[in-house]
Amino acid sequence: MTRVPLMTKESQPEGDDPNLRPAAMNQMIGQREVIERLRIAIDAAKQRGETLGHVLFDGPPGLGKTTFAHCIPNELNVAIDFLSGPTLKAPKDLVPNLTNLQAKQVLFIDEIHRIPKAVEEYLYTAMEDFRIDLILGEGLNARTHNFKLKPFTLIGATTRAGMLSGPLRDRFQIREHLDFYSLAELTQLVQRNASKLNVQIADEAAEFIALRSRGTPRIANNRLRWVRDYAQSRADGKISLAVAEAALKMAGIDRLGMDRQDLRYLETVVRVCGGGPVGIESIAATMNTSSDTLEDEVEPFLLRSELILRTPRGRVATAKAFEHLNIEWPRDHQGRLFE
Ligand code: ADP
Repeated sequence: MTRVPLMTKESQPEGDDPNLRPAAMNQMIGQREVIERLRIAIDAAKQRGETLGHVLFDGPPGLGKTTFAHCIPNELNVAIDFLSGPTLKAPKDLVPNLTNLQAKQVLFIDEIHRIPKAVEEYLYTAMEDFRIDLILGEGLNARTHNFKLKPFTLIGATTRAGMLSGPLRDRFQIREHLDFYSLAELTQLVQRNASKLNVQIADEAAEFIALRSRGTPRIANNRLRWVRDYAQSRADGKISLAVAEAALKMAGIDRLGMDRQDLRYLETVVRVCGGGPVGIESIAATMNTSSDTLEDEVEPFLLRSELILRTPRGRVATAKAFEHLNIEWPRDHQGRLFE
């Protein structure tokens, strides 16, 4: 029996185009080792007629955690139900989803690090023994009923593996970290998605967009959609290198693929705070944004690009960051540690 995966709002981060999201693992680009390990686990579970063990994906936003959560049920030929961590305020919010699960079905919880402790503890027996306690009746008549669930696979996604408690993390049999994509992988993704969007793109233009996508498929898709709009409105609809260059320049994307938010972060640390060390809360307050957004969306790329360092005393801009902003590296600065 083929069941069509259930699609809810939570599964579609704003701006993602469902047509660009691969539906099967063999359509996914990159993450070869992760895919290979998952295939082995999926094949083995299918051969034994068992339920796949619980799976946890961690990594920065836009790298394919939700995409994997879509593809795995398709490989298993089972349905999927989606939940988002921040919407689960109390155990009762989980109950309908758990009690309605079909055998071997997948339950996906995005941003699982944001569920409160009580919900997390409620998940323990659900994950381990496929049982939950239900409170029936109210007040003096309230009784606890131990309810047996159908065996299911929980897929959790998190941008902050470190925020997950040990007991929850240990209940996932399969844990996969998703890393940034290579230039070749992102170029392939841009080329493939341009053809899905029915737009002609030159090879150099695809590589130009990929190079400015911070190793992230979601960003590559966003950049591609913008360049396509630009090509339609300002050129002949085809994406040449010149069109891609002009479009990304207009959007304020620099040669490292940083957008205005990334540059504001860097400018705050370098210009406003003299290169640091500065605490994340101070940076967030200066930028009038939340530290969660900065930690999830901005810092992973800046850290990987060696533009900032996280030290016990706060964030520090590296010489490379000063150079990128065209500001002289202050020799008498604490940053001399990194000269
Ligand atoms: P996350 O859940 O990690 O934030 P998503 O899975 O929502 O990221 O990925 C964002 C978009 O990037 C998807 O809609 C999809 O189009 C694209 N994408 C992500 N990973 C891949 C991949 N490995 N191959 C092709 N496209 C991908």
